[in-house]
Amino acid sequence: MASVGEFSKKFLAMDQGILLQEDLFGKDWDSGEWSLNNCCLLDSDQSDKFHNIENKGLYIIPLQGRNELIGLIILFASTATPSYERNKEILESIGVLIANTIKQRRSEEDLIKKNEEMAVANSKLEELNELKNRFLGIASHDLRNPLYLIKSYGEILKEDLRGKIHHTRQTFLEKICASSDFMETLLDNLLDISKIESGKYNLIKNEENLNELTKSQIDTHKLIARKKKIKIALDLGKIPTVDCDKNAIIQIMGNFIGNAIKFSPPNTKITVRTSREDNAVRLSVTDEGPGICPEEQELLFGEFQTLNNKPTGGEKTTGLGLAIVKKLVNLHGGNVGVKSGEEKGCTFFFDLIPYDTLLLVGPPTEKVQRIDSIRPKPISDWEFS
Ligand code: ADP
Repeated sequence: MASVGEFSKKFLAMDQGILLQEDLFGKDWDSGEWSLNNCCLLDSDQSDKFHNIENKGLYIIPLQGRNELIGLIILFASTATPSYERNKEILESIGVLIANTIKQRRSEEDLIKKNEEMAVANSKLEELNELKNRFLGIASHDLRNPLYLIKSYGEILKEDLRGKIHHTRQTFLEKICASSDFMETLLDNLLDISKIESGKYNLIKNEENLNELTKSQIDTHKLIARKKKIKIALDLGKIPTVDCDKNAIIQIMGNFIGNAIKFSPPNTKITVRTSREDNAVRLSVTDEGPGICPEEQELLFGEFQTLNNKPTGGEKTTGLGLAIVKKLVNLHGGNVGVKSGEEKGCTFFFDLIPYDTLLLVGPPTEKVQRIDSIRPKPISDWEFS
C-alpha cells in the first residue's frame, strides 16, 4: 500500500526533520537537503496508527524532484523487512524517479489546461475578428453610396461654377472633391481588407503575362508622374506567364508605382522591372526617393502604417495600401518584399509562381472562397435625376 501526499508550506518551511517513531525524516542538519536517515526500516507494529493494517515494516521515501520535495511515499510491509546496506540510496532514487514522473505529468496537465484556455481565447478572438470584418464591410458598403453622391455632385458643381464664383468658394469645392476622393480610397481599402480577411475575396485567376499587364497600365502612371517631373522607365525581361487575378495584380502594381511617385522628389526616375528569379517571376518597382530604414521595413506591410516618409506632393496616405498588397500576393501563394540600403531609393517587389511550374506542383493550398463580390454596384442613372 502506498500513499502520495503533499507537504504543507509550513512543513516545508521547517528546518528540522520530523520524527516517525525513532526514525528521522527531514532536512539534513548540515547540508540542508531533504534526506532519509540510514535506518528507514521500522519493525514495530503500526496497526493502531495506520488504519489497522498489520505492519511489520515501514519505508518512508521522499519524492525529491529537481530542487523541490514534492511529497512522500510511505510503504508498509506485512513482514519484517531486512535492512540492506544500500537501502537508503535505492529508495531515494526510486523517489526521484517517481517525483520526476509526477512533475512531468503535472506540467503536461498544466499544458493541456493552458492549451484549452488558449483555444477558447482564440475562438473568441476569431469571433471578434469576424464581427469586425462584418462591421467594416457593412459600414464601408453603406457609406460608399452617399459618398459617391457627394463626390459626383461636388465634381459637377466644381466644373459648372468654375470662373463664376469667388475663388475662395472654388477652393471649398475643390476641397470637398479631394476629401471625398480620399474617403472613397479609404472605404475601398477597408472593404478590400474585410473581404480578404473574411475569406470572401473573389480571385478570378487566368494565365497572364506580367509584361503585357505592365504595358497596359503604365501610361496612366506616367501621366501622374509627369505632374511631379518624375520619369518612369520599363525594363521588361523574358518571363514566363503566371496564374493570377488580373485586377488584383493591377492593384498591387498600382500601389507600388503610386507609392514610388508619392514618396519621390521631382526630377527622379522610377524603374518598373520584370525578371525571372529562380522559381519565381518577379515584378519590382525601384525609385530614387528617401528609402526606408531597416526598423520601418519591418512595419511596412502592417495595417495603418504611415511611417516617417511623407508624400512629396501633398498626396493623402491611408497606411493600408501595402497591407492589402501583401494579403493579395499571399492569396496568390506569392511573396512580397522591399530592399533599401545605404543609397537613396528603394525597391518593392512581388514574386509569383510561373504558370508552368504551378501545373507541375499544383495550386497553392490556401483556399479562397468564391462568392459574389460585396463591393456595391455603381449608382444607376435615375439616382442623379
Ligand atoms: P500609404 O501609401 O497609403 O501611406 P502604404 O501602406 O502604401 O500606405 O505605405 C505605408 C508607408 O510606407 C507610407 O506611409 C510610407 O511612409 C512608406 N512607403 C511606402 N512606399 C514607399 C516608397 N516607395 N518610398 C518611401 N516610403 C514608402
